[in-house]
Amino acid sequence: MKKTLMRFALLSFIILSAGCSSSEYFHIKPVRPVDELITEALKSSPPAETGEFRENELTEIVKLDSTVRLDIRYATENNFLSTPLYSQPRAFLQKPAAEALIRVQKKLKSRGFGIMIHDAYRPWYVTKVFWEATPADLHNFVADPSRGSKHNRGCAVDLTLINLKTGKPVPMPSLYDEMSGRAYADYTGGTETERANRDLLRSAMEEEGFAVYEFEWWHYDYKDWQLYKIQNVKFEEIK
Ligand SMILES: [Zn+2]
Repeated sequence: MKKTLMRFALLSFIILSAGCSSSEYFHIKPVRPVDELITEALKSSPPAETGEFRENELTEIVKLDSTVRLDIRYATENNFLSTPLYSQPRAFLQKPAAEALIRVQKKLKSRGFGIMIHDAYRPWYVTKVFWEATPADLHNFVADPSRGSKHNRGCAVDLTLINLKTGKPVPMPSLYDEMSGRAYADYTGGTETERANRDLLRSAMEEEGFAVYEFEWWHYDYKDWQLYKIQNVKFEEIK
């Protein structure tokens, strides 16, 4: 594991250093052209799932609380593939997960913080594009489309904290989507402030039924994710 971690750290360093100075985001060189992968993924179907599932209730988070900030990176070029994957900057979760997230927002407010969402529900075909575009040795950081992602079920959210006084995101131990050891939820490096911010987000989320992903401090799964099916509906089709 340590060896792997060092490789991630080294790779991250190389990529971040190679980027232009204005680059505030992590990016990789896709294994194949992304537009080609999108065309292919749109023609594919999610894995068949059997069993009992709850009805799909994807709920737009800002409709429950308009104070929640959005920075939907996959609707911009500012993401790890450097190209937009979503046609609209929107964030949805299954209703109970969305309501739990709003409770997190309200609790953080009294401490001077708010949440800023980078991604929530993600159509399955986008997960397939991420997997195919990412080199195999970085597959820890992307979900396997043959099993689907908890994002595909509308039960995972990627987020950070903002300081309500400045309106700006707070320092965290790594960039969003950074494929390096700094992104690990238990990473012990960085500054004390960065780790305190990360840990504050974690405790607020855990109190409401979300669990952090060990390789990504920004990624949280809602406890009932098994109850929902993998979805492939596009944002523009959701009312
Ligand atoms: Zn995520």
